[in-house]
Amino acid sequence: MPEFEVLFLGTCAADFSPRLKTDKKDCFDKDIRRSSSMLLNGHILVDCGPHTLDSMRIAGVPLSAVTDIFLTHLHDDHFDPENVARVAAECGGLRLWVREDAVLTPPAGVTLMRMRPMQEYDAGEGIRVTGYEANHTEFPQHLLFERNGKTIYYALDGAWILYETFLKIRRKYIDLVVMDCTMGDYDGDLRVYAHNSIPMVRSLLRSFATVGITGEQSQIYMSHLAPSLHKSHEETVQICAQFGAKVAYDGLTLTV
Ligand SMILES: [Zn+2]
Ligand SMILES: [Zn+2]
Repeated sequence: MPEFEVLFLGTCAADFSPRLKTDKKDCFDKDIRRSSSMLLNGHILVDCGPHTLDSMRIAGVPLSAVTDIFLTHLHDDHFDPENVARVAAECGGLRLWVREDAVLTPPAGVTLMRMRPMQEYDAGEGIRVTGYEANHTEFPQHLLFERNGKTIYYALDGAWILYETFLKIRRKYIDLVVMDCTMGDYDGDLRVYAHNSIPMVRSLLRSFATVGITGEQSQIYMSHLAPSLHKSHEETVQICAQFGAKVAYDGLTLTV
């Protein structure tokens, strides 16, 4: 039995295709990505952005199934207060987990759960969650989910890994890494100060393997891709395969 059932609801950076409002509004497409979000075990959302409820509708996930939403940060491609309120209205008793110093007014019906960086929290059903500091803005936290020895590290948004965070996660073996890969394989974009490019991810992941954070059993996925800075999904798959990484897409399911 897997510890985690993972569904990628969105894998895009903030440069969304206008086709999400026309011919792609009711389906997933590997090249027409929606706002980054992930569903764990059918009831835990990681981020709830402008497209998350559309993705849930397409995937056949009822809003009433959601018990918890963990926010990586408050940028509006990850946190849409109206969509969180719609989930809360359906499910009753929604918990919204944010970094402890995040400045926000929770929608009605939401219990705000403030997470101190590096501290572990019990999310129920044996799932423990820790937020690690990240190089980004709007109260960022990279999230580590652990259950019965299996681990998921959700590292977006953010550029690189902060040294303090590395010192904590180097003691872990990570079964699924989801990594910010906003930019493609070129230099010179300003987003490099808050996001990763393919060369950065390649170097970082090789160092993960060297120190044993990842190994043969690890699954490694790129997410938060900006279509304007990447080649097609299939070309990106070929590029990332050269350093052992896969490319997430909307609708992808995995087990951990
Ligand atoms: Zn983002
Ligand atoms: Zn962001």
